[in-house]
Amino acid sequence: MAKFLSQRAVIKASTWFAARKLIFSTPRRHELIRRNMASNRASAAETSRFDFLVIGGGSGGLAGARRASELGANTAVIESHKLGGTCVNVGCVPKKVMWNAAVHAEYLHDHSDYGFATEKVNFSWTLKAKRDAYVSRLNQIYRNNLDKQAKIETIQGYARFTDDPEPTVEVNGRKLTAPHILIATGGQPSVVSDEEVPASLGITSDGFFELETLPRSVIVGAGYIAVEMAGILATLGSKTSLVIRQTGVLRNFDAFISANCTKELQNNGIDLWKNSQSVSKTDKGLEVTIVTKDPEKKNDEKISTIEEVECLLWAIGRQPHTSGLNIGTMGLDTDERGHIIVDEFQNTSRPGIYAVGDVCGKALLTPAIAAGRKLAHRLFEGKKDSKLDYSSIPTVVFSHPPIGTVGLTEEAVKSHGKENVKIYKTSFTPMYHAITSRRSPCIMKLVCVGKEEKVVGLHMQGLGCDEMLQGFAVAIKMGATKADFDNTVAIHPTSSEEFVTMR
Ligand SMILES: Cc1cc2nc3c(=O)[nH]c(=O)nc-3n(C[C@H](O)[C@H](O)[C@H](O)COP(=O)(O)OP(=O)(O)OC[C@H]3O[C@@H](n4cnc5c(N)ncnc54)[C@H](O)[C@@H]3O)c2cc1C
Repeated sequence: MAKFLSQRAVIKASTWFAARKLIFSTPRRHELIRRNMASNRASAAETSRFDFLVIGGGSGGLAGARRASELGANTAVIESHKLGGTCVNVGCVPKKVMWNAAVHAEYLHDHSDYGFATEKVNFSWTLKAKRDAYVSRLNQIYRNNLDKQAKIETIQGYARFTDDPEPTVEVNGRKLTAPHILIATGGQPSVVSDEEVPASLGITSDGFFELETLPRSVIVGAGYIAVEMAGILATLGSKTSLVIRQTGVLRNFDAFISANCTKELQNNGIDLWKNSQSVSKTDKGLEVTIVTKDPEKKNDEKISTIEEVECLLWAIGRQPHTSGLNIGTMGLDTDERGHIIVDEFQNTSRPGIYAVGDVCGKALLTPAIAAGRKLAHRLFEGKKDSKLDYSSIPTVVFSHPPIGTVGLTEEAVKSHGKENVKIYKTSFTPMYHAITSRRSPCIMKLVCVGKEEKVVGLHMQGLGCDEMLQGFAVAIKMGATKADFDNTVAIHPTSSEEFVTMR
């Protein structure tokens, strides 16, 4: 475990293309492109020219590059690390494998209630090797997919803007340029500075995927990554403490979800430290000191120590990955946290340079893929209105039980007025738990606006909510009303039927 504790984490807490497509037949086009790419590689001293240059081979970059290439653009993708980016390597994919393992652990509790005589079963970290092999297979699949597309060149290396008059990127001494350059460099975990935590020991979510044993863990953070990782570790059997600044987790979610999720973390045996002002490690290196202060009571500061900590995990947010990219040279506008500012069409403040995904800091998670594809259609198919609609993006948190949420929270009263908002809520025990000693409620909420009661928000936490959400998100995107929900026949016996029978 010393290996994980010693890991240092130091950061502050087009139309032309459409026309061209028609002029050249596909085989002729491919031949021209192949020749063009060969000449691009001919000399390192020359600047290689592409139609589309994508920096970052993660979710957004790969989606944009592949779609642009399909539309006939001569494209290059530059990736410094592993293809697939955060999601494939240190995010959604390995996380979901771990969550699946934790779900098995939950079901094990229920086996005897369902009539299975089970001996004590132990969790084995052989899973890590299988998970890593799956991620490696995905890296290879991404590589093969790029190689199969004649119009994409994959360049391994770290991209950095040069100060040439024409926007140009340099990778391993080679210069590359294009009339359209996409920055899709994603984000990276935020950590504390050496000054804040002198020993600055601990890991981030990236380090979570290097764990090879189940550690006694302290997790700092209240966002979805903290919630998911605390849930996985605790459910798999790790003694887990979660340290949060206020009284609840997921504070930017609907209050109903935030409160329920906070309660469920405790129900799952997580030792929750609320109102915690600071966390530091003692010089023994194996104790975490926490300062808690109840905001209601003045001078009520308590200092506590958690001993024998094997893994201190910082899940205190993410920051844009622009370091070393030299975006200052390009004069791109950024916000106070360093995110690249884009308009609704993913245009940065400099013509010909675009950004999608986590580097923009807006609607993180899956939208990077859709935003990258929409941009490619706008630039290389002449669809000038092609842009991602960032409203009503469905999100799942793989907590225990999972959370599904789409659209407006009860905060809709602020934009629509209290008199125009109607809330429907329910809480029940899913039928699965009718015969289990382990109980976990399912909570659901609909936020409706106007006389027609248009459903603008749907929030839920409970067994199966992760897979329940996508269909409801389609209905909401199509403008479904409460009456449409009510006119849909309930599928019995399921939990989802509650959404069409709410009164
Ligand atoms: C623990 C965790 C769990 C998550 N779970 C989910 C989930 O369940 N569902 C979900 O939708 N999202 C999830 N996410 C978020 C999701 O992974 C990101 O929102 C998504 O990957 C963002 O895609 P992107 O293309 O913006 O950036 P990334 O996928 O991060 O890709 C950026 C790429 O750019 C490369 N790069 C950076 N700088 C340079 C440079 N200068 N030159 C060349 N290459 C460079 C990086 O190496 C990286 O590969 C999770 C994230 C984390 C951390």
